[in-house]
Amino acid sequence: MTHIRRRAPRRSVRVGIIGAGFGGIAAAVKLQQRTSATFVVFEQSPEVGGTWYDNRYPGCEVDIPSHAYSFSFLKYDWSHTHARQPELLRYAHEIVDAFGLRPHIRLNTKVTDVVWDDAAHHYVLRTDAGETHTFDVVISALGLLNVPNHPDWPGLDDFQGVSFHTSRWREDVDMGGKRVAVVGTGSTAAQVVPGIAASVKSLLVFQREPGWVEPKRERPFSARERWIYRHVPGAQRLHRARLFYQSIARFKAYDATSRSQERKRRACVDYIERTVGDPATREAVTPDYPWGCKRPVLASTFYEALNLAHVDLVPHPVASVTANGLVDSRGEHHEIDVLVMSTGFQPTKFLANLDVRGIGGRSIHDAWAERASAFLGVTVAGFPNFFILYGPNTNGGFSIIAQLERQAEVAAKAVRRLESGPGYVDTDERIQQRYVRWIDSQIARKASAMESGCRNYYHSPGGKNITQWPGAHLKYLVVTRLLHRIGIRRIAVPR
Ligand SMILES: Cc1cc2nc3c(=O)[nH]c(=O)nc-3n(C[C@H](O)[C@H](O)[C@H](O)COP(=O)(O)OP(=O)(O)OC[C@H]3O[C@@H](n4cnc5c(N)ncnc54)[C@H](O)[C@@H]3O)c2cc1C
Repeated sequence: MTHIRRRAPRRSVRVGIIGAGFGGIAAAVKLQQRTSATFVVFEQSPEVGGTWYDNRYPGCEVDIPSHAYSFSFLKYDWSHTHARQPELLRYAHEIVDAFGLRPHIRLNTKVTDVVWDDAAHHYVLRTDAGETHTFDVVISALGLLNVPNHPDWPGLDDFQGVSFHTSRWREDVDMGGKRVAVVGTGSTAAQVVPGIAASVKSLLVFQREPGWVEPKRERPFSARERWIYRHVPGAQRLHRARLFYQSIARFKAYDATSRSQERKRRACVDYIERTVGDPATREAVTPDYPWGCKRPVLASTFYEALNLAHVDLVPHPVASVTANGLVDSRGEHHEIDVLVMSTGFQPTKFLANLDVRGIGGRSIHDAWAERASAFLGVTVAGFPNFFILYGPNTNGGFSIIAQLERQAEVAAKAVRRLESGPGYVDTDERIQQRYVRWIDSQIARKASAMESGCRNYYHSPGGKNITQWPGAHLKYLVVTRLLHRIGIRRIAVPR
């Protein structure tokens, strides 16, 4: 663990953190390491862990290497190259215990609104139980892939079988001998399909639009590898550095005109050709848009599951639901007993379940009427002392954990500045606007594949890419460290 020596603060700062996923955990650790602030973490669920508490479907695991999907501040003995959900949840609990965070966490407590008091220069935070708390600073760590996207298919309510979203997995439903449909073929479906294939009678996989799939090559670490990562000084750090370095080269392929893009597409097509048995299925799973337009799917067992005799791909969207099945867009009816909706989340609705009011009572959702945006993805002009983790244009960068760590550092550094005396911090609006123009230009130049016309989850109703970070993590690290003081200004107030 890293401990940073600090001067005694002139002012005691109170911080409210909303969410106890990896974002909220990162914020709490950074505050503890870098400030003397007191903090409370509010979590609506009965457990910490966020994504890895909510998503418990068979086959759920991270799709980037475990050592990159880890915080820099705690060495960890990962059992697999790509950790599975139970281990990721354990990891969240172990950090909470290692840093003594548990007494600061209020579980089963949903925050409903956060209102800035212009006279007192603090926030009033309200919970769904009607309690109010005052905090000098609020850090929202609500996540991006947190609110399930429930389809509005006609007839869904009349379905007589069992239906549920992948992030609300029904462990009580025995799929043995059942006719099951999984709707969706994104990253989650590519894990669920092989995860349940062996236990069901038949499995239909509904695909609206195929995604580019790359083999993940996951495996357990050998006892020797684990020993090395545990005991050899610097081994884990070096491995992490290598993984992050490789991700810089990988990002180049997001330029739709690059040779890396061409190589990626070729490799994925080769993978389809050597893995998918049936020619019609091969054709149906081959996308006709650039690699990287949708989030690439990393999965080594998905195509193999599609080869199984009792698993069928339906390469059409669902049009409607009947009492006992699904009707596809060609009008064909498919009888099923269990409907699994792998239909993703609502990432463009930032802070959807929270009413945030800044200076003059202005709602953050009004400020974002045209598009959601934030300086560094973290702060918004007119919302003093308010920090967003996993905010606009921060998704990507290889490891979200690393991205969250940088955002937590931005917040902790601002809290540190607040500790020097009375006042608050706010974002310079012109700098925020310049930053957003820079993000747009970076997406256009370096991530044109994301804008190449497939259906992805990145765009606002106005057509702006408001979720993605246009680069590898290193670029985000540099930008957050260089720019945070330029855009986030301290405003002193007389005692
Ligand atoms: C299935 C799946 C697989 C993924 N795989 C990867 C991967 O391979 N690599 C990667 O980098 N990222 C991956 N992600 C993204 C993942 O969400 C992030 O890596 C990370 O876990 C986000 O952490 P978070 O704390 O920001 O958000 P979350 O984990 O979503 O946590 C947010 C927390 O806030 C709580 N909350 C929300 N609203 C309120 C409220 N009003 N009051 C109180 N509490 C509230 C929620 O209950 C939740 O616990 C994946 C996501 C999903 C869904």
